[in-house]
Amino acid sequence: MQMNKEVIIKVENINYSYNSIKVLENVSFDVNRGDYIGIIGPNGSGKSTLLKIILGLIKPDKGSITISGKKLSNGLDSCRVGYVSQRISQESQDLPATVYEIVESGLVAKEKLFSNGEKHREKILNAISISGLKGKEDKLIGQLSGGQRQKAFVARAIASDPQILILDEPFVGVDLASQDEFYRFLRKLNVEKGLTIIFVSHDIDIISGQASRMIALNRTIVYTGEAEKLDEKKLVDNIYGQKFTHIHHDR
Ligand code: ADP
Repeated sequence: MQMNKEVIIKVENINYSYNSIKVLENVSFDVNRGDYIGIIGPNGSGKSTLLKIILGLIKPDKGSITISGKKLSNGLDSCRVGYVSQRISQESQDLPATVYEIVESGLVAKEKLFSNGEKHREKILNAISISGLKGKEDKLIGQLSGGQRQKAFVARAIASDPQILILDEPFVGVDLASQDEFYRFLRKLNVEKGLTIIFVSHDIDIISGQASRMIALNRTIVYTGEAEKLDEKKLVDNIYGQKFTHIHHDR
């Protein structure tokens, strides 16, 4: 059954340059509510830059982002987007913080207030429970497995009840078994909670099996459509294969 689609993010004609080097050109696409979008592209193809623009962290030279019908101007406050960044799980290993505190920090950052009322506590415990970490509230983040740590950061991102969850290469240093479990968890959030998910990766195999729609980026959009119809070989040989050698990843 095809339901009426509601556009939740509209990306229109985005252009962006760093010091006059163009890294995004005429990037346009829509994200519908409930979508599970995989954005792929080799290192240096502009994925992180695009995310930063969608998150309102940097301003495009041209074009616009509309989230839930509202044009994104400056900053994150106009929208409800949860974000799990690259490397966060790995870098957090030594933090002397508990799961509860990590999740709470997300809520405080989003809602810009310190309240420790019952409602506040309930939101935190609910996000922890949805993320399958019930009972681990007082565990130090470093005591968790890689996959569990990743879930704690998803719990942090969803505590304020966002409409959209964006994950930027969240698997650095996470073993395969944990990745599998984490995918099932994301699917559940998508299907059961109706959360719109945007997952960014440089690894085509990782997300083509998960996402309902794929966007392949290489400075501009080179493919958008159903994951099953994505011709991986053609993409890699004809598009990424050719251009890979010109792109230097200098992170
Ligand atoms: P991806 O996330 O796909 O690896 P990025 O958006 O990080 O791609 O980078 C796209 C291009 O922009 C790369 O060539 C990268 O070197 C360059 N770049 C990224 N950030 C900066 C920056 N802050 N200053 C200058 N160039 C940058």
